[in-house]
Amino acid sequence: MRIFGASAIFSLVLFSHLSLGQSTPSTTFPTQLLLRPAAVFDGETLHLGWAVLVENDKIKAVGPSAQLAAPAGARTLELPGLTLLPGLIEGHSHMLLHPYNETPWNDQVLQESQALRVARATAHARRTLEAGFTTARDLGSEGAGFADVGLKQAIDQNIIPGPRLLVATRALVATGSYGPKLSTDVDVPQGAQEADGVDDIIRAVREQIGKGADIIKVYADYRWGANEPSRATFSQDELNLIVQTARSAGRPVVAHASTPEGMRRATLAGVQTIEHGDGGTPEVFKLMKQRGVALCPTVAAGDAISQYRGWHKGQDPVPERIQQKRQSVKAALQSGVEIAVGGDVGVFTHGENVREAVLLAQEYGMSPLQVLRAVTSGNAHAFQLPDRGRIQPGLLADLMAVSGDPTQDITTLRQVRLVVKGGVIVKQ
Ligand SMILES: [Zn+2]
Repeated sequence: MRIFGASAIFSLVLFSHLSLGQSTPSTTFPTQLLLRPAAVFDGETLHLGWAVLVENDKIKAVGPSAQLAAPAGARTLELPGLTLLPGLIEGHSHMLLHPYNETPWNDQVLQESQALRVARATAHARRTLEAGFTTARDLGSEGAGFADVGLKQAIDQNIIPGPRLLVATRALVATGSYGPKLSTDVDVPQGAQEADGVDDIIRAVREQIGKGADIIKVYADYRWGANEPSRATFSQDELNLIVQTARSAGRPVVAHASTPEGMRRATLAGVQTIEHGDGGTPEVFKLMKQRGVALCPTVAAGDAISQYRGWHKGQDPVPERIQQKRQSVKAALQSGVEIAVGGDVGVFTHGENVREAVLLAQEYGMSPLQVLRAVTSGNAHAFQLPDRGRIQPGLLADLMAVSGDPTQDITTLRQVRLVVKGGVIVKQ
């Protein structure tokens, strides 16, 4: 399949000069832009020969190319051989972390300055956007305080390129349950905020919201010691209180949980999504489905960590941990629980966000079409973002185009040829 015709290259270059590096794009980018790809995936279905008209930062119209003429003064972008999709939504990122095989998590939290971490995060934000992810839920600054709020502001103010961020700030952990842990004699800064009991939890949730948290993240279970399995942390009452306090401020709660008990408590408390869910059982997935709680399985994180620990993928036998993960995701799919797509990127390289989608389709039993729906309209639904995730009149003009047909071959999501955010071409 051809990637670009000569005329498309010409118009893209023209656009890149017009649209990049402008601090006030609303006055300089074309007010109307007609995109003519080979096909449009609208968040649900693939349509051959469709076109999309963008006006300012919104989608104005979508439909068969023959019925969608360019209005007077509109720019037309020919995208032969490309499939146009809604901008992808990353369900679980950590902009302030970088891969653990570069620097272990403990050392990032304890030894890297916040300035270094933020500077690195600006590069992560750009790579995420260039990979076609126009929105990301960033689920915890991991010891970098409220730096994610400033990062989001820098993106929103067009100081640096990046996706639209939903930030969780510090995240909540039960005292003693998280890390880093050194000797019993040394208290070291933690990767999240400790809070316990009624007054403390209410204060911590409100403080995070007051400083800019869009989401409250709670660790419903964790390994209390280095060489033991995860066990539940917060009590049911504490989790209920966290959700109630956040909800009254209009914020959802997401729970890190990998044990059936942690998942069960978080589900009963009313969280929006459960992250990881490695030990999920058919019973707990059934409960999640009943309560409308989505699962973000983060398969790419475990895949990366197993390789950091020496798994030569494709040569060595599949590690126990990965086998179990495949079983639990299978049970989740059978239960019909909503699947959110988010890789825990930061554990692995920012900009390779699409690993999660590729693994879900290649190794975890979802079809490419199921994954595409999940990473666009599905994530928008799970995260309650009705203004994006589909190509539909009135929604944000957050778009990306890949060469080939991702409904047949999910790996074409790596072939990003165009990214549009709020009607502005940010990559070509
Ligand atoms: Zn995470």
